[in-house]
Amino acid sequence: MKNKKVIALIAHDNKKPDIVNWAIKNKEKLSAFELCGTGHTAKLISEATDLKVKAYMSGPMGGDQQIGAKIAEKKIDIVIFFWDPLQAQPHDPDVKALMRIATVYDIPIATTKATADIVIHSELV
Ligand code: PGA
Repeated sequence: MKNKKVIALIAHDNKKPDIVNWAIKNKEKLSAFELCGTGHTAKLISEATDLKVKAYMSGPMGGDQQIGAKIAEKKIDIVIFFWDPLQAQPHDPDVKALMRIATVYDIPIATTKATADIVIHSELV
């Protein structure tokens, strides 16, 4: 039996309502995947959708790096990452590292709702 593909979900604080609403809207599609995310994002999505979302550490406490490591281990297939372009983040180096490693491994990484919609509805995922 084929394992489910794994989606990592991450959103900076100002973008958390957006990712939660996106997850509610796409709950049925998301239920076909194994889900994980940074601490607070994972908790909010899980509470709002009743979907199981494995929580890594909070982003600023190393969650982005944990997700990056899983990408390098080929254990994450897709990243939905609603980052905040209008507010500086204390863990900006980790954010860059995550973007970098996702690019190194050619992982689809959706950073806007428009892209996330395309990715989740794609026949390629
Ligand atoms: P959080 O982390 O989901 O734990 O808030 C996200 C981030 O800021 O990278």
